[in-house]
Amino acid sequence: MDIISREEAIKQSLKFYFTGTPCKRGHIAKRYAKGRTCFECVRHLRKQGIKAKKDRIEAALLKKQARNTAIANGQKTYHTNDYCAKCATNARYTSNNKCVACEKKYSHQYRKNSPQHIKKYNTQYYQENKSVFQELSKNYREKNRAKLIKQCSDYYYSHQKEAAIYAKQWKNNNIDRYKKQNKHYRRTHLEQHAFSQRRYKARKRKAYGSHSIEDWLWLCEKFDFRCLCCGKQGKLTEDHIRSLFCGGSDYIENIQPLCQSCNSRKHTKTISYIPIDTFLLFPSMREKASA
Ligand SMILES: [Zn+2]
Ligand SMILES: [Zn+2]
Ligand SMILES: [Zn+2]
Repeated sequence: MDIISREEAIKQSLKFYFTGTPCKRGHIAKRYAKGRTCFECVRHLRKQGIKAKKDRIEAALLKKQARNTAIANGQKTYHTNDYCAKCATNARYTSNNKCVACEKKYSHQYRKNSPQHIKKYNTQYYQENKSVFQELSKNYREKNRAKLIKQCSDYYYSHQKEAAIYAKQWKNNNIDRYKKQNKHYRRTHLEQHAFSQRRYKARKRKAYGSHSIEDWLWLCEKFDFRCLCCGKQGKLTEDHIRSLFCGGSDYIENIQPLCQSCNSRKHTKTISYIPIDTFLLFPSMREKASA
């Protein structure tokens, strides 16, 4: 190539000039008359640009493919060749193409910083989909009935004070519902209701101790559902051997099954019709003996 200075090239209105000296990158090449840039450098950069563009298109295509496969497989996230600029991980959500790690971080911060917004949103969402939620929780309750009952009873026994306060509050706030439920319970659980009424009376008389309906039924069964005084089978009443009036306890050991008339006749006298060895058979006694 002939040497031609820039001024000469401009005079002749040529596009290039050539001095024979190397450029910054060491090319000995013609240069543009307008901006003095090296022709080889420009070609090199252009080549690089084209390659980068090609790479970008290819990467985008791969990403799209990965996403489509994930959608077809019903996956919530997918992995791409496009790494997140912020956290350098490559898992993204199929729904919105956003980075999983960054979204999690963001939502965690949002929850932490705006609990009121979240609460408001949740309430609104619940109200809009109330029937769905109710259906779901009903199904759950039906499926896990035994587990839930156990949970409730465990909680009750470990928080009896709180439970009593809560029950009182609930009763005061829902007095009509309470009355209705109570009435229903009385009608459907005659024996249990009568039993708990008797316990209530005993407590009112400041009797110490208590016993369960199972204890009472066990006792009746032990004596073939007969009155211990006259031996008749029929409706039995709980008689306190040593009456509550005279300071007797409400423990099952102080109870004997008598018919109504024998119970009335005995009144407050202390008479035990129970054979002495029976006491060893009481469930509570047996538990104590085996422990
Ligand atoms: Zn160059
Ligand atoms: Zn990220
Ligand atoms: Zn009798």
